[in-house]
Amino acid sequence: MVYQWLKNIQNFVLPPSCLLCGARGLAPLDLCAACCSELPRNLHACAGCAEPLPPGAPPGSLCGRCQRKPPVFARAFAPYLYAWPLDGLIQQLKFGHQLAAARSLGSLLAERLQQRGGPWPELLLPVPLHPRRLAERGYNQATELARPLARHLGLPLRELAARARATARQSDLPYRERRRNVAGAFILRESITARHVAVVDDVLTTGHTVSALTSALHLAGVETVEVWALARTAPPGWMSAD
Ligand SMILES: [Zn+2]
Ligand SMILES: [Zn+2]
Repeated sequence: MVYQWLKNIQNFVLPPSCLLCGARGLAPLDLCAACCSELPRNLHACAGCAEPLPPGAPPGSLCGRCQRKPPVFARAFAPYLYAWPLDGLIQQLKFGHQLAAARSLGSLLAERLQQRGGPWPELLLPVPLHPRRLAERGYNQATELARPLARHLGLPLRELAARARATARQSDLPYRERRRNVAGAFILRESITARHVAVVDDVLTTGHTVSALTSALHLAGVETVEVWALARTAPPGWMSAD
C-alpha cells in the first residue's frame, strides 16, 4: 500500500520508465518507443470476432466461424495479439498489481481506437469480475483498462453489469465447456438507456464471456454492442507470416 503510494508520488516527480526495458517512457506511457513498436499488432483481423486472419485478407473479411454464424455482438476490436511481450504486460496488469500497466495499455488502446474512428458508443462497460475474485485481486483489470479509455475518448464508464454467479476461470476449461460455463452469467444492476455500448476486456479468446454479456445487454434493450479488447489470442496452430 505504502509502496503503491510512493510509486504514485514518483510518477509525478520522475518521467515514466518503460515497464519492459526500464528506458525512459514515452509520456504518458510507461513504455518506451522501441518497446511500443515491438508490441505484436493484430493487423489482419476478422471484422466480426477480431480473430487474426492471414496477412492477405482484405479489410472487412470474416473468419470461417463468423461466416457460418455471426457473433451476437456487432463487431470486436482488438488491435494487438496476445503474444510476447504484451502477454507479460497483461499478466502484470492482472496479477502483479501493476496499475501503471493499465494506464499505459488503456492509453494505447485509445490511440488505436482513435485511428479506427467511430461511430462511438454511448458508454463503456467493463466485463465484471465475480465479487470473490475482485476481493482477492483488489481491482478489476477490465475497469482499470477502461478508465484511461474513457478519459481519452471522452466517454462515460459505467460498471452496470455484475456476475450472477461464480464461474470457473475460462482459461482452466476445455474449449467446448467454455460457452456453457458463462451462459447466463451476467445481470444488469440497473436499467440502461444507451442504445450503443462497448464492452471492454483485456484479452479476447473464445468470445463466450463477451457473448454472454452481450446477450444480457440485448435483453435490457441495448441495440448495438461492440467489444473492445486490448489483445486477441490466436487460434491453435495459427502462425503469422508477417
Ligand atoms: Zn522499453
Ligand atoms: Zn470471426
